[in-house]
Amino acid sequence: MKVVTHAIISFILALVFYPIVGLYSTIIFFSGFIFDVDHLIWYYIHYKSLNITKCWEYCNGIGSHRDTKRMVRMFFVFHNWEFILVMLLGGFLWEGFLFIGIGAGLHLLLDIYDRYRIFGVVIPGSAIHYFLTKPKHF
Ligand SMILES: [Zn+2]
Repeated sequence: MKVVTHAIISFILALVFYPIVGLYSTIIFFSGFIFDVDHLIWYYIHYKSLNITKCWEYCNGIGSHRDTKRMVRMFFVFHNWEFILVMLLGGFLWEGFLFIGIGAGLHLLLDIYDRYRIFGVVIPGSAIHYFLTKPKHF
């Protein structure tokens, strides 16, 4: 899903939360799209380049070609339920982590929906599942 779409939907969620949590809603807003930076981390690990344009073209190309084989091989460190669980539990230490978890959770749900819409498969969004079923290309 495009970062702009994430930002717009996160902004709406932040507006809903604002009367309840005040300025913490800005954390929901930013965490709703900023974790897409892990696409660039993945791209750097595999292609030794931090070129945002090439990374975007690569990821976008997988979607537009409905390249399910390449899509399921990609692992993003912030796009999994385990990361979100850690953030939610971190809320016991600092409330901000709770709102990071909420924003990142919305982000992951939107990405799972988007991948289902494009590829017709439901991605579990679990790091544990990924590493247990990891394709042998690594
Ligand atoms: Zn994403």
